Amino acid sequence: MHRTVTPTRRHVLQAAAAGVAVLATGCASIGAAARPRVVVVGGGWGGLGAVRSLIEGGKADVTLIEPNEGFMSCPMSALYIAGLKPVSYLQRSYQNVDQKGVKRVRERVLEIDRAKSQVVTATQRLTYDFLVLSLGVDYMEEGIQGYAEARAQLPVGFRAFEQMAVRQQVDEFLVKGGQFVISAPRPPYRCPPAPYERAFLIAEQMQKRATKGKIIILDANAAPTPASTTKVILNAMQQYSGQIEYVPSSEIKSVDMGKRSLQTSAGEVGFQHANLVLPMRAPGLIRQAGLGERWAAIKLPSFQSVADDRIYVIGDAQGSPLPKSGHVAFNAGKQVAEEILERLAGKTMAAPTAAVDLPTGICWAKVTEKEAININVTSSIAPGEAAKLKFTVDEVPNARSGAGAASWADGMWKAMLG
Ligand SMILES: Cc1cc2nc3c(=O)[nH]c(=O)nc-3n(C[C@H](O)[C@H](O)[C@H](O)COP(=O)(O)OP(=O)(O)OC[C@H]3O[C@@H](n4cnc5c(N)ncnc54)[C@H](O)[C@@H]3O)c2cc1C
Repeated sequence: MHRTVTPTRRHVLQAAAAGVAVLATGCASIGAAARPRVVVVGGGWGGLGAVRSLIEGGKADVTLIEPNEGFMSCPMSALYIAGLKPVSYLQRSYQNVDQKGVKRVRERVLEIDRAKSQVVTATQRLTYDFLVLSLGVDYMEEGIQGYAEARAQLPVGFRAFEQMAVRQQVDEFLVKGGQFVISAPRPPYRCPPAPYERAFLIAEQMQKRATKGKIIILDANAAPTPASTTKVILNAMQQYSGQIEYVPSSEIKSVDMGKRSLQTSAGEVGFQHANLVLPMRAPGLIRQAGLGERWAAIKLPSFQSVADDRIYVIGDAQGSPLPKSGHVAFNAGKQVAEEILERLAGKTMAAPTAAVDLPTGICWAKVTEKEAININVTSSIAPGEAAKLKFTVDEVPNARSGAGAASWADGMWKAMLG
């Protein structure tokens, strides 16, 4: 359904008096510096959205800080984990981004010194006029007793480059069989349909390869979330009734790798292989910098930190009700870049006086190699109100969405890294 929500983000930015590059936030250093410095931390979905638009704007020196040498996608990773795609399908180089003129620092940010407007790595301190954080997620390992000691044997695979270890386990399971546990935590977590998608594609391979055994989905929730996806996911599960056992309301409390057993709120469950998708939170840098607790506290629609209006937190690390989706993260990156460019041009923010649209989300849950469920999320926020989200979900898995998922991913990877 078409929605008309006005004004857009651009309308709420108003020209300041003279267009001088000194910010209303009191960032006096910009006036003196040759070019303003924008630092983006995290070269994933959100960070790349910001970097690409900032560079196109041509008004600032843009530094991207990312420890990994290349990019690897979580969206579409179920295809790799189930053995349907090579790892190269998910991986891309930062070469094209480098060529556009970003300065890329291959390090991890260890600290944000807000008093000095600097980010600190093991070897340097980088000063920023604006800082964009798109750090992704961290796992709450302490929620499952015994997990930290067993971490190496229980890869989660919900962050880039962890998927290879999960694939190894799946390969072994498909040959040897046995009990393969996949868990779904309580929200909010990254891409809620993803644990079920992973189970579906592994179950499809079990059917094709006549693997003896079963996948047990231990769901901390009473049903798949969000509610708009519950019916279609549970219906899709029926085609794998010989392969998948679904156990709702079974939150994992502890793991014993010696006995290969899990204590859950629904009793003890044994396993040969386990892919425990842990509860999630923002990485520790957010807490170190005083930007939030479990998630970064931000203002919508701007994604500005509540604590510091020269810092924007986008992507999964921010704590708004928006879905933790790469599509949302990328579009939020573009939006905050546009706002930073406007502020660099001397414009100041005025609070919106009417409802404004928020970045849209698109998520895909593959059910078979060829079929998927499409989940679209549109959202808006009105002054003084909470964000309103509207989900549009396929009623049945279908080949059109299966093909749509592949072309969406190609398009997004190109926009980020092409
Ligand atoms: C299985 C699966 C399927 C998914 N499917 C979809 C889908 O269909 N559609 C969709 O829209 N989304 C999907 N998602 C969600 C999507 O992957 C995330 O929402 C997206 O990656 C969030 O972007 P981000 O920038 O916040 O984090 P990321 O993309 O994870 O990027 C964070 C980056 O920050 C870097 N970083 C972290 N800490 C530091 C530090 N201290 N210093 C420097 N760098 C740092 C990391 O190395 C990483 O590269 C899926 C996720 C999973 C796991």
